Amino acid sequence: MVKAVVGANWGDEGKGKITDMLAQQADIIVRFQGGANAGHTIVNNYGKFALHTLPSGVFYGHTTSVIGNGVALNIPVLMEEIKSITDRGVPMPRILVSDRAQMVMPYHILLDQYEEERLGGKSFGSTKSGIAPFYSDKYAKIGFQVSELFEGEMLKEKVERVCEQKNVMLEHMYHKPLIDPGELFATLQEYKNKIEPFVCDVSAYLNQAMKEGRTILLEGQLGTLKDTDHGIYPMVTSSSTLAAYGAIGAGIPPYEIKEIITVCKAYSSAVGAGAFVSEIFGEEADELRRRGGDGGEYGATTGRPRRMGWFDCVASKYGCRLQGTTDVAFTVLDVLGYLDEIPVCVGYEIDGEVITDFPVTCKLEKAKPVLKTLPGWKCDIRGIRKYEDLPEKCRDYITFIEGQIGYPITMVSNGPGRDDIIHRKSSIK
Ligand code: GDP
Repeated sequence: MVKAVVGANWGDEGKGKITDMLAQQADIIVRFQGGANAGHTIVNNYGKFALHTLPSGVFYGHTTSVIGNGVALNIPVLMEEIKSITDRGVPMPRILVSDRAQMVMPYHILLDQYEEERLGGKSFGSTKSGIAPFYSDKYAKIGFQVSELFEGEMLKEKVERVCEQKNVMLEHMYHKPLIDPGELFATLQEYKNKIEPFVCDVSAYLNQAMKEGRTILLEGQLGTLKDTDHGIYPMVTSSSTLAAYGAIGAGIPPYEIKEIITVCKAYSSAVGAGAFVSEIFGEEADELRRRGGDGGEYGATTGRPRRMGWFDCVASKYGCRLQGTTDVAFTVLDVLGYLDEIPVCVGYEIDGEVITDFPVTCKLEKAKPVLKTLPGWKCDIRGIRKYEDLPEKCRDYITFIEGQIGYPITMVSNGPGRDDIIHRKSSIK
């Protein structure tokens, strides 16, 4: 049984918490795309952790954590992350890394920084983790697979060939120091020694696990609106954030993904540049940012303040549709308890016309939010475990949003912990 946990919006919806919770009943948790550019925050018995590369199931003794072929694998970051959790008392997790995963090279990180510098005010707001240069090289067919680390002679020759090309760019475009192929080769030998114990034919492993009836979770990074094809291009990430890509990035048949749990946050936040129609500013935004998430809405990887906004039904309906949602997990609802009234974006006004279908980026830039205001419930809902025990106005907020997005909200998260979850029967399902 394969389930995917993915985001409907710009990321930071609380996927880490939902994956960590579902991992209690899972055997294998797989990262299938993205890299160390975004983070999941997880709160559990061991403390609070920000994960970047490891899947959110690493805290359990019974799970296997898999890094699929679709991931941008940064080996030093992975090693550092393993150390950061084991140093804090988490038992060494069982980790498998696909032999077909490609590696983020040191020059990818440099080129990402240099390009952002060059673009200046027109930059994409990259986290400078090397992700865009990494995926460009992967599709330009000059990336390095983990498997290549074990072929010394071929690797040496390829390192020289790729360095020649990178050095032209470094010298003439960025005016920066050149890469020494010998040094790079030595770094790759270190990578080889570090990664060797984890390397595996992940696709074969997962196919066997499916035959044995194991439960597999595919954990997405970011959300629909950051998908390269279906997101707010070009202010997107460089890999697909959709559940469908889970099949490719893990190496399993698409029809095996039976449940797609799309995580939607009860309000909006976004990082980086790009249109954000329901965005709010000033004191209103500061207060929501301060109260948001678990300890404020600041990036798990970069610490930068997130942009804030009201819940966006247009973006979320689209986000859920592209994911192929079977269930919505509606998160961080507890944070809204301070508001007298809660505005929700129910449409976009573009050139005098109101639409509810999410448009292409050039139209999106012109969109103004059409807001509807719902009454707040003005109390703390943390600790509630039964849907019926939620205040009526809170249930009204949930059903209103469910009606707007058209996908069943079957889980409501009212706190950062594993147990802060309310299961709910939806009339849609
Ligand atoms: P992810 O990247 O989608 O996993 O999301 P992040 O980790 O960036 O953001 C989610 C943040 O909200 C984390 O700090 C979580 O601990 C926290 N969180 C998740 N669910 C809830 C919730 O229901 N209520 C509150 N207050 N915080 C939550």
